[in-house]
Amino acid sequence: MQYNRTGKSGLKLPVISLGLWHNFGGLDNFENQRAMCRRAFDLGITHFDLANNYGPPPGSAETNFGKILASDFAAHRDELIISSKAGYHMWDGPYGEWGSRKYMIASLNQSLKRLGLDYVDIFYSHRFDPETPLEETMGALDFAVRSGKALYAGISNYPAKATKEAAKILKAMGTPCLIHQPRFNMLQQEPLKEGVLKACDDNGIGVICFSPLAQGLLTDRYLNGIPEGSRATVAHFLKPGQITEEVVKRSAALNEIAKGRGQKLSQMALAWVLSHKEVTSALIGASRVSQIEDAVNAIDKLDFTKAELTKINKLIA
Ligand code: NDP
Repeated sequence: MQYNRTGKSGLKLPVISLGLWHNFGGLDNFENQRAMCRRAFDLGITHFDLANNYGPPPGSAETNFGKILASDFAAHRDELIISSKAGYHMWDGPYGEWGSRKYMIASLNQSLKRLGLDYVDIFYSHRFDPETPLEETMGALDFAVRSGKALYAGISNYPAKATKEAAKILKAMGTPCLIHQPRFNMLQQEPLKEGVLKACDDNGIGVICFSPLAQGLLTDRYLNGIPEGSRATVAHFLKPGQITEEVVKRSAALNEIAKGRGQKLSQMALAWVLSHKEVTSALIGASRVSQIEDAVNAIDKLDFTKAELTKINKLIA
């Protein structure tokens, strides 16, 4: 495993991190979850990413990971970076989502209980709340760190302008913003085009990109149809309607370029994300152990030739 420094902080993260958004909920096979976490850790993946609402049902991914921590990783807590987030809908009423201090701290307390932990390593504001003063949301992150319930503060899905403001507020509070978690992949390049990566770089903030495989579109998963059990058939965040002929054609063309590099498409997609100097880590999802192994093997070839990039850019620009 290769470990990159997170922005200008003292913390290093593995270039491949594992997220528990899908396949770690109450309805998923627990032994498979356990096997994936164990294999990931054995391969050097020290960072596991969660959020209050991961499941389904919401919260169950934290509960399951808490069980795995207790049964398999109890002796390894200090070797792990565990994150959680609050921002999306978690419970009814006016205090169950967005960015108020009331919600953020209540949610963090609930997450710690489900995880069976005294602290998380990174606590994120999961989305920018246009209605709550940013000082209040950042104040909640600062409080989480000062109270010892989190070691570092992060933001996710924040646009460039809010990122710069958040960085300024947190810096003034003495709790620097460690990391930003945006969606970034070959097919979804908004953080690059809209200045989020630059805002992070300018402010010493690390970047961990979620959905680097575009939920499976940047893999060979859908090249020959939509397999039973794939995310497009079991989850509503990727719909079969998104697997259009055009999408498959582009993935097939990218797959040929990957083959020329001696890689799988998924590995080339990870290498592409990691080739951006602002990016600290690619945050993958997985439904089986072999996908985690594939991801870690991407590290064998992270560099691109100019000719490869020209061919790729023609397909994804
Ligand atoms: P990816 O883009 O990595 O998609 C993962 C999916 O791609 C897998 O579940 C699997 O789908 C497929 N896949 C992975 N590897 C392979 C392979 N080698 N061959 C074929 N198919 C493969 O990431 P996710 O969308 O899962 O997001 C990753 C993490 O990012 C989340 O778990 C979460 O921690 C974080 N995240 C954060 C968000 C935020 O708002 N901050 C939002 C979304 C995610 P299949 O199930 O079909 O096998």
